[in-house]
Amino acid sequence: MPPPKLHRLPNKTILRATLSENPVKTTLPSTDPADDSSTVASYLRDLTPSPTSGALDALITTLSDTKDTLSSANGNSSSRSRTETIARGRDQTLSVHSGDRVRSSKSTKAILDAIQTPIVQSSTFTFRSTKDCIDYNRGLYESFEYGRYGNPTTRAAEEKIMALDRAEDCLLSSSGMNAVTTMLLSLVPENGHIVVTTDCYRRTRQFVNTLLPKMGITCTVLDPADLQGLKNVFETRGATMYFSESPTNPMIRVVDVVEISKLCRQHGVISVIDTTFATPVNFRPLDFGADLVLHSGTKYLSGHQDVMCGALAGRADLVSQVRKLHGVLGGVVDPHAAYLINRGMKTLGVRMEAHNRNAASIAEYLNKHPKVSKVHYPTLESHVDYAVGKKLFHKGFGGVLSFEIRGNGDAWSRETFEAAGRFVDGLRIAYIGPSLGGCETLVEQVCIMGYFDQPLRERKRLGINNGLIRFACGIEDTYDLIDDIEAALKLA
Ligand SMILES: *Cc1c(COP(=O)(O)O)cnc(C)c1O
Repeated sequence: MPPPKLHRLPNKTILRATLSENPVKTTLPSTDPADDSSTVASYLRDLTPSPTSGALDALITTLSDTKDTLSSANGNSSSRSRTETIARGRDQTLSVHSGDRVRSSKSTKAILDAIQTPIVQSSTFTFRSTKDCIDYNRGLYESFEYGRYGNPTTRAAEEKIMALDRAEDCLLSSSGMNAVTTMLLSLVPENGHIVVTTDCYRRTRQFVNTLLPKMGITCTVLDPADLQGLKNVFETRGATMYFSESPTNPMIRVVDVVEISKLCRQHGVISVIDTTFATPVNFRPLDFGADLVLHSGTKYLSGHQDVMCGALAGRADLVSQVRKLHGVLGGVVDPHAAYLINRGMKTLGVRMEAHNRNAASIAEYLNKHPKVSKVHYPTLESHVDYAVGKKLFHKGFGGVLSFEIRGNGDAWSRETFEAAGRFVDGLRIAYIGPSLGGCETLVEQVCIMGYFDQPLRERKRLGINNGLIRFACGIEDTYDLIDDIEAALKLA
C-alpha cells in the first residue's frame, strides 16, 4: 500500500530554516565540551552556587508554564492555553485528548473527595513543564514518572503495609515469588552465602538451589529451631542473609526472631522473615529486630483469592536497593491489582480474627480425634515450637494448620494414602486447592498437591507423609467447619 498523502508536510527547507532561526539558547549544558563526564544535573548544580544567586531560578522562569494545562490560571494572557489549543483541534486530536486530564476544579475535587483511592490505570505520568521535569529529577517535585518505577494506587497499598508492619518503606511487586527473587538478587552479592530454613516455600527453595549457584551464591539449610547451627555458620564462614518463613508451610514452624535478629546484627547479616502465614495482625518481625519482612500478598493481605502480589517492607536503605533492581527486572504489580490489595487490607484485622479462631478450634478438635495421629499448629503444647510461639504470637498463628490422617497406622502406606483421599473428598465446605488466605476454606493432601513429583526420600526428609493434610481455614463459621470435618473423618 502506498503511503497516504499528507497535507502540509513540512519540507526540508522550512525545517532547516526553523532550526537556524531558533537556535537553542539557554537550556543546553554549556560545560566544557571536553569534559565528557559532565551531566545535566551537574550543569544545573553549577548554576546554583548559592541559593540566593538566582541563576537557576532565572533559567527556570524562562522555562516555566510553557505547557500549562490550566488555561488562564497563571494570568499569562499572551500564552496559548492547552485547553484552547485542543478545543480548536481536528477530530483525531479531539478523540485523543478531549475529556482526559480535565483539571477543572470539579473533576480535581471529585478525585480527591472519592472515599477510595482511585485506580490510576496509567503507565506514564507527564510533566506540566520542563521546570517540573527538572524539579522531579532533583527530588523537589513529588510525582511519578513511569509505571515500572511507581504508581499512586500502588503507593497507597505500600503505605498501608508500611503502617501495618511499622516499616520505613515498602515495595509491592507482581507476586510473592517476585518479591523473593528480586530481594535475593539485589541484596546478596556474587559468591555470597545465605541461610534458609527447612520447610521453606518450595519455589523459594528451587530458586536458591538452581539459580543462585549460577552467581556463586551458596546456601546453608537449617532447622528453624537450630540457633546453635546458625551461630556456627555465622562464625565459621559468615553469611549475607538469613531468610525464613514464620510460620512455615506446611508444618507451621515458628522461628525465634528475637534471638535470630540479635545474632544477625552481631554478625552484620541481613535478616528477612516471610510472614505470609501470619500477616502483621499476628506477628510483626520488624518490632523484634528483623531487617525486612516479606509477604505473598496473594494470600491474607488481599484476602479474596482474586489477585497476585508480593511485598517487601522494612529498612528504607534495603528496600530502596531492591526497588532499584525491581525497576530493571520489571516485576511490577498492575494498578488494578494494587487497588484490590488495598481494599482487601481494610478487612485484614477482622478476617484474621476469624482465620485464627477457626484454625485454633479445629486444631484442638482434631488433636483429640482417634482418626488423626498428629496435628501441627503452635497453639498445641505438643507442637515443637510451642514455647517460641507463645513468646512471640499473641493473637494466633493464622488460618493454616496441618494434620496426619492415621489410616492403617503406617504413615507411608497405601492404605493411609487412600484414607486421606477419602477424608478430603468427604468434605463439603472446603474446596480442594493450593494456596490460602481467602474467605473460602481450602484443603489439600500435601503429597499429591505440592509434592506430586517429589521422590519419597525428599518427602521423608521433609515429613510430607501420605496422610498429611493441609487445611487452610477460610472465614466460615467455626462450628460448620468442625461438623463438616467430623462427617468426612468417618470416611477416613
Ligand atoms: C504463596 C507463598 C509465596 C509465593 O507467593 P506468590 O504470591 O504465590 O508468588 C511465598 N511464600 C509463602 C510463605 C507463600 O505462602
